[in-house]
Amino acid sequence: MNIKKFPLVATGSSKKFFDIRNIFNLDISSPIVIAGPCSVENQQMLEKSAKFLSSIGIKFLRAGLYKPRSSPYCFQGLRDQGLEFSKHISKKYNLITVSEITDIRDIKKLSEYIDIFQVGSRNMQNFDLLKELGKSKKPVLLKRGMCASLEEFILASEYLALEGNRNILMCERGIKTFENSVRNMLDISSIALIKKYTKLPIIADLSHSLGRKDIINEIAKSVIVAGADGIMIETHPQPEKALSDSRQQLNFDETRKLLNSLNI
Ligand code: PEP
Ligand code: MN
Repeated sequence: MNIKKFPLVATGSSKKFFDIRNIFNLDISSPIVIAGPCSVENQQMLEKSAKFLSSIGIKFLRAGLYKPRSSPYCFQGLRDQGLEFSKHISKKYNLITVSEITDIRDIKKLSEYIDIFQVGSRNMQNFDLLKELGKSKKPVLLKRGMCASLEEFILASEYLALEGNRNILMCERGIKTFENSVRNMLDISSIALIKKYTKLPIIADLSHSLGRKDIINEIAKSVIVAGADGIMIETHPQPEKALSDSRQQLNFDETRKLLNSLNI
């Protein structure tokens, strides 16, 4: 890896980057856990999720409102309709919200409702979106493109940094391979390599990489051992009834067990 290609985010760069735990005044020694439903489906289910997650000490709430779906016939998210109540719920339970942004035109509006912008796998190389988010000072959770090399992933973070954003959280979410026993192949080596070559924190999205939940506890441990700063998981009050990603979402009991197994 030629780290000269990414002078700002590289280890050894003189630039200072911030960890979201510092930004939001949280304990830097405990792993970042971002949990919540795949999609916000209605106010009640988000409130139930937020209430449960805050009761077990989770600080970051997934609140996906704009859902990029492979099929135009699948649930596309509540979009603008969910903004007000999502903000209200996150305030009520003192949670920091993470929500995907798919359109450059939404930056100003969403800035008022959410705390961390998520750039999804499908938009990792949407360079205009990256440039505009780079100008915004809000933290950005940058997911790895499902077909992106590690170098391309790091270069995407360099786009954000070049425009001045120093609040970047990388997220390994698995890449496409021929293997079909998991949804995407979680690249654990990328976690160790991002820690080695860059100054950026990184988490692993266990739900979208695995696409299943029967081995999530084991894989969660392995990403922490590899050096991950935390995990993202999908948690739903009734996963079997979820409007998206039903098979991979954890129920409340499974979420509690996973965190216990990690001593979180
Ligand atoms: C998500 O986290 O809601 C999502 C769609 O994931 P990804 O962009 O990794 O596919
Ligand atoms: Mn999902």
